[in-house]
Amino acid sequence: MNAASSRPNARQRRGRHLKALRRGCEDILTALDVGDPPDVFALCAQVGRSRGRSVRTAPVDLRDSGVYGLWIATHEADFVLYEARTSRLHQEHIVAHELAHILCDHHGGGDLDDATIGTLFPHLEPSTVRGMLGRCGYLAAEEQEAEVMASMLLTRVRRRPAEASWPVPAEAAQTLARIENVVGPDVQGERP
Ligand SMILES: [Zn+2]
Repeated sequence: MNAASSRPNARQRRGRHLKALRRGCEDILTALDVGDPPDVFALCAQVGRSRGRSVRTAPVDLRDSGVYGLWIATHEADFVLYEARTSRLHQEHIVAHELAHILCDHHGGGDLDDATIGTLFPHLEPSTVRGMLGRCGYLAAEEQEAEVMASMLLTRVRRRPAEASWPVPAEAAQTLARIENVVGPDVQGERP
């Protein structure tokens, strides 16, 4: 140990701050008991069941809005809209990020202009939608917390595909294929 350890420098302070953030996020996840869902969409469904308030995901064309994802809280449910025209990997990150805002209780709503609101909600007045969305945008600290939480969520769901990539015995592979035929590898119906 050198003398610098007695007074933390900026990098050390950042490290401690991140550690504290991660611990806070871990506590939230532990309290939720979301199990081991196969992907971030199943995770949303599981979080909904665990909290007694459903989290619904929907792909939307958000290209002109300047945002890739959006959380909208209504009286009944939390809706996570994500960019339809981007890669699956990017979509998973977007959904994880929005889910993180929900779990961290951030209450933002994105920063949308009237044109975007008109596209997303053609039957509603922009002012009504703004009221629905509540406070627009998030604080930088909230964004940082959401990113930490999102990466933890993604680590959690991505552990499984890695484990499943071990060679599967022939009969087990057939069973797996049958299950996928019945359940479908993608329950969100996003495939073209
Ligand atoms: Zn955000």
